[in-house]
Amino acid sequence: MSEFYRIAVDGFSSCGKSTLARQIAEVLGAVYIDSGAMYRAATLLALQNKCIINNQLDTGCFRPVIQHATIEFNAGNNHLLLNEQDVETEIRSPEVADHVSEVATHGFVREILVQMQRSYSEKASVVMDGRDIGTHVFPDAEVKIFLTAEPRIRAERRFQELRENSVDISFDEVFENVKKRDEKDQNRRVAPLRKADDAVEINNSYLSRNEQLDKALEIIYEKIGDLS
Ligand code: C5P
Repeated sequence: MSEFYRIAVDGFSSCGKSTLARQIAEVLGAVYIDSGAMYRAATLLALQNKCIINNQLDTGCFRPVIQHATIEFNAGNNHLLLNEQDVETEIRSPEVADHVSEVATHGFVREILVQMQRSYSEKASVVMDGRDIGTHVFPDAEVKIFLTAEPRIRAERRFQELRENSVDISFDEVFENVKKRDEKDQNRRVAPLRKADDAVEINNSYLSRNEQLDKALEIIYEKIGDLS
């Protein structure tokens, strides 16, 4: 095993990947990286620069924009910094959610973000959540977890979260967005969402946060021993 380890947490939209990955990182003292936040930041950047036309990314418009952008995490609170601005709230907006799967289908966007994601793992042990971490970003990750939950349950959780943040949206709209993103993420040509052959699946539809953490830690300790 190299100096640092990589734990991949992949799965569908809104199934609690970031909650689980953050908890694991805290227990193990590793760095948590939310790769979805990076795709959301790229999408916000595309919207800010009017590079999304009729729901399609204008690649000629966006290529130079993303090449000159900085996408980083604030070391203190883990907030996403886009060109040094804290955009943690903006990247969670329904507008960004509506366009992110389109932006994430483009190979040049993925290449830029994947390069950044790999560079994090050279400086520290990381727990990274996303869609293609175990299959593409770190195909040789020491631990791969694939998280699933029933679509309606995922939409309900997301709906609650948005309501708590005072976002005005109906349950049906959230449910539609979840289903649309699942469909697009699984069927895109570049690095589609799928369970890596060597990933361990956890279905958390009826698990509490602590129960899912216990299951994940069991898998991790079995693969690479007690790392805390
Ligand atoms: O994880 P989150 O739901 O915030 O991710 C937002 C979107 O970013 C996903 O629906 C997916 O289209 C894209 N994504 C991706 N690959 C990743 C992480 C996220 O394509 N590794």
